[in-house]
Parts: sequence; structure tokens; C-alpha cells
Amino acid sequence: MTDCLFCRIVRGEIPVARVAETEECLAFRDIAPQAPVHLLVIPKAHFGSLEDVTDASTVGAMSMLAQQVARSEGIAASGYRCVINTGVDGGQSVGHLHLHLLGGRSQGWPPG
Ligand code: AMP
Repeated sequence: MTDCLFCRIVRGEIPVARVAETEECLAFRDIAPQAPVHLLVIPKAHFGSLEDVTDASTVGAMSMLAQQVARSEGIAASGYRCVINTGVDGGQSVGHLHLHLLGGRSQGWPPG
């Protein structure tokens, strides 16, 4: 998608702090971190949200990259939270599927 913010990040048109990538996915630091470690893991291909995904491989690849960067960021042992906000009630503000990886502090429950 030409004008999608995260597609532009994938193409390198908008600078971000890239942390890791695979053939399918990219992990970079959230511009407005909500925890000491706050990364976004996105598929390089465009999906508007989780609702647009039709097979298990996309979310599987995102989850494996989240696990990898949780380890490289040093939060795997203490724990972390993965969140995929979906749609209006889910609080999704960017229309490209993304997984928030949050860690480095204790997470509250239930989320707001
Ligand atoms: P959501 O509200 O779940 O759609 O999350 C979108 C996330 O994208 C928010 O946490 C934003 O801070 C983050 N974000 C928006 N623009 C950028 C950007 N240019 N670089 C890094 N993170 C961004």
C-alpha cells in the first residue's frame, strides 16, 4: 500500500530505529514508548489488521521475531507482553498489522 505509514517504514522512506528483521517481518522501536522496551513487529506485506489475515504463517512469523527480540533486548527472563490492537474498540490507530512488544517493567491487568 503506497501511502501506508508502516509500508513506508518497510521501504525505508521514514526513518525508524530498526532492531531486527527477517524476510517477512521487521521489528523497530515505537516512537512513543509505553514501557522501557516497546517495539513494534510488523509484516513487510500489507495487512490492514488481524482481521485481514487468512493464514497462520504471518502471525507465526511475527511471534517468532517478537520472541527473538525479547531475548536480544534482555526481557525474556523477566517477561513481556505482546499486544495486537485490532479495530476501533481495540484501539488500533495505524492501519497496518502490528504487534506491540512491551517489557522492562511489570504490566498491569486488565488493560485499559
Ligand atoms: P496502535 O495504536 O496499536 O495502532 O499502535 C500504533 C503505534 O505506532 C503507536 O504505539 C505509535 O506510537 C506507533 N508509531 C506511529 N508512528 C510511528 C513511527 N513513525 N515510528 C515508530 N512508531 C510509530
